[in-house]
Amino acid sequence: MQFVDVVGHNELKKRLINEVNQNRISHAQLFLGKTGYGGLPLALAFVQYLFCKDRRQEDSCAVCDNCRRISTFQHPDIHFTFPTVQALGKLSNHFLSQWREQLTENPYFDLHEWVGRIDDKERKPIIGAEESLEIIKKMNLKSFEGGYKVYIIWMAEEMNPSSGNKLLKIIEEPPSNSLFILLSENLEMVLPTILSRTQRIKIPRLSNDEVISYLVNNQGINNTEAINLATRSEGNLIKAKSLIVALDHQNDHRESFIKLMRCCYKKDVLAMMDWSEEMANSGKEPLKLFLLYSLEMCRQSILKNYVGDHLNNVSQEEKVFLENFSRFITGNNISLFLSLFSDAHYHIDRNANSKIELTFLCFQIMRFIHVA
Ligand SMILES: [Zn+2]
Repeated sequence: MQFVDVVGHNELKKRLINEVNQNRISHAQLFLGKTGYGGLPLALAFVQYLFCKDRRQEDSCAVCDNCRRISTFQHPDIHFTFPTVQALGKLSNHFLSQWREQLTENPYFDLHEWVGRIDDKERKPIIGAEESLEIIKKMNLKSFEGGYKVYIIWMAEEMNPSSGNKLLKIIEEPPSNSLFILLSENLEMVLPTILSRTQRIKIPRLSNDEVISYLVNNQGINNTEAINLATRSEGNLIKAKSLIVALDHQNDHRESFIKLMRCCYKKDVLAMMDWSEEMANSGKEPLKLFLLYSLEMCRQSILKNYVGDHLNNVSQEEKVFLENFSRFITGNNISLFLSLFSDAHYHIDRNANSKIELTFLCFQIMRFIHVA
């Protein structure tokens, strides 16, 4: 992967390029930021630049044998550690072919997508103690080609204390020419002892302009829609992509939302039960998207009430709906609605029983909608 393939982060790219060219690479670095900001693609481009035999001022060459092996994730001196489902395999090595497939298809992915790829049952993956021993073993071997040996540790917060503590010594006193790049989304979840031994590099969110240009140029989204999606994606490319999927389902969501609000308003319990059952059958991921949509509709309703017709980011059909509906969402119940939908999203994400969750949701809406 070249720097040019990494969306945004021009300042960071320059900084990493300078580290290599001025030969002052810190041997243990922690890239900190949401997966959707692109820390992993940046790490891959950085390592490729470091290994490139014909590097340019701005980027690696992409054609030397190192670049070619790194771009297919096959260089013998570059190793990967990532969370695995322990019941299926304790070492990252056991999942190397899926890992390469994932990076090739889409290097912007999160833990959820990764687990979906390796385990039908989507069990919780971790980085276990055996993996730490493997890291130590490999880092103590001579490098194959006499240069750097690199370990890229993705989602370092998934290391438990016993696996993390095993690594402290090697991170503190690494063999010569070692480079550890740890990636994490969550500073608080990384072991403090690891934190204190690494140089922290904050991966910031992408700017709206960077997301817009990605959506237009790489995803074929039209400019107006791209602006809309970028505003809602919070600089997170994974979120932006899930919003594209959501856009496809937007009409369905609108219909379901209208149906939900109608039956709750009329206190039509039978219709509420039917709605809950039907939605529960749609599956976990579509349901989560629907709940995000509902949150957005509540937010837009309150905007409509307070700033009148300055509605942003809604389709013509939604505008028509909000004309009537927005009067039901006021300062008296907006926070109730927002917590309700975001709690439901949280619970469904953690595998709560959808039918029960949605039935509860209906009854709460029935109460809240009448306190407008
Ligand atoms: Zn090269």
